[in-house]
Amino acid sequence: MIRNFNDDISTPDKFVVTLELVPGRESSGRTIDTITGISKDAYADGRITAVSITDNPGGNPALSPDALGHEILDDGMDVIVHFTCRDTNRVGMESRALQLAHMGMKNILALTGDYSGKGFGGAGSPVFDFDSVILTTMLNDLNKRLIRAGHSSIFITGCAVSPFKYTEAESWVQYKKLERKIDAGASFTITQLGYDIDKYEELLLYNKHKKIETPALASLYLLDKRSARPMHAGRIPGVHVTEKLFKKVMQEWEVSSEGMKQAIERTARLGVVLKGIGYKGIHLGGIHDSFETVGKILDRMSEIEHNWLDYIEEFRENEPNRFYLYKQPETAKTVIPGKDTIKVKIAENFHYLFLRTAHDLFFDKRASLAPMYKKISSSLDKSKTSWMLKAFLEDPFKKMMLSCKSCGDCGIQHVGFLCPESGCPKHTRNGACGGSNDGFCEVNTDKLCVWVRAYNRMKKHGETEKLTREFVPPRLWELKDTSSWINFHLDRDHQKPLKPPARML
Ligand code: SF4
Repeated sequence: MIRNFNDDISTPDKFVVTLELVPGRESSGRTIDTITGISKDAYADGRITAVSITDNPGGNPALSPDALGHEILDDGMDVIVHFTCRDTNRVGMESRALQLAHMGMKNILALTGDYSGKGFGGAGSPVFDFDSVILTTMLNDLNKRLIRAGHSSIFITGCAVSPFKYTEAESWVQYKKLERKIDAGASFTITQLGYDIDKYEELLLYNKHKKIETPALASLYLLDKRSARPMHAGRIPGVHVTEKLFKKVMQEWEVSSEGMKQAIERTARLGVVLKGIGYKGIHLGGIHDSFETVGKILDRMSEIEHNWLDYIEEFRENEPNRFYLYKQPETAKTVIPGKDTIKVKIAENFHYLFLRTAHDLFFDKRASLAPMYKKISSSLDKSKTSWMLKAFLEDPFKKMMLSCKSCGDCGIQHVGFLCPESGCPKHTRNGACGGSNDGFCEVNTDKLCVWVRAYNRMKKHGETEKLTREFVPPRLWELKDTSSWINFHLDRDHQKPLKPPARML
């Protein structure tokens, strides 16, 4: 009988265990045999609801989760396919979704994705035509088509969230993006990986505070010396392993049998604590060799779960200068939002105020002068002289102020008057990805994340609620290298009033 992930996450009181498997850069052989072997053993064991399969992890090529997942699904184990926005554009993504639906693989973890890594001949070109919110919206739209076509099952789309953010700005943008993903149709969440129980608890408190009932699975990783090193060094985007924990793990692994024993014990203890504080389930990673280790972790969890409170203090990190949304999680029946000291440089503030004022004057369709701008735009367009406006006014101004890439479909108003094309390597328009580290970009590590800058400058003016307030549609590529000013006034850009597609009428 096929195990059903959706049934299990929808069943009250069912504690769900999923297992993350990572294919490598080969189409058959030892690694693939190991993965299918783990999955068969997991199915036989009966305690695992589904396996999830990563999509070119770290941006490097690997066997497709669609192909491998289909083989695993045939053996009866339910599969969650990781689906990132990095490697194909919207045409390829929709085509892939149709293929997955055709193969009966409808549990999707929708992710913006790590940045591009290296493939044949060098680094890959990053696509990021969509972000995870838009991808979730596309899958939700596809569901409507599937239902109309008489399909009995539809996509069950989940999303990732990282509570392990230690500045106010990063925490805020993460949680706001989570809300957007849920509004877009995400029906389960899986956390980023961490070892800080106050942050794990923060997400549950946030969900409670915002009345979010979407089931949350907590990521849990079997931390060995091989994985602890890059995590501690910040080489795995968004993952934190403190100096204290790193040293402890290294010490434990001085005798390798002791290292594995301690890794299993730590994973089991964190697992029961996460269950105790209210997670719907755990999403277990770091299993590369056999199912035996998973069995040992789950056995140990059964032995110690009644004592979970005894272990909670082991996972309080108590590191200085970290931001927590709720200052005292254990007593946070009343929600007390934390506060960071945010400083905004004079030039940064001036940039924001200047562009915000210009936007309100020239790009507000409710403004009294809007009909006049529309008339001017229309006449420039008809006389085919709009290129002069672009070449002599728009381009110089926007290149100087925003390092504009001339996308023709301007989205600065969604990102605190910063450019999502030049400012964000993943071109996100609906909120930050999970890869930032201490406020800095995952890719350009010497630059602040554009969303952190946006939050900070808007916070100064009490305007953060305007940030990530509503769904931002994908950029229209057909407008590239045309005047975004004219496109706005002639209702050609993503802000045009939406008409339902013909098939929806
Ligand atoms: S969003 Fe597009 S038009 Fe606006 S500044 Fe960036 S590249 Fe230029």
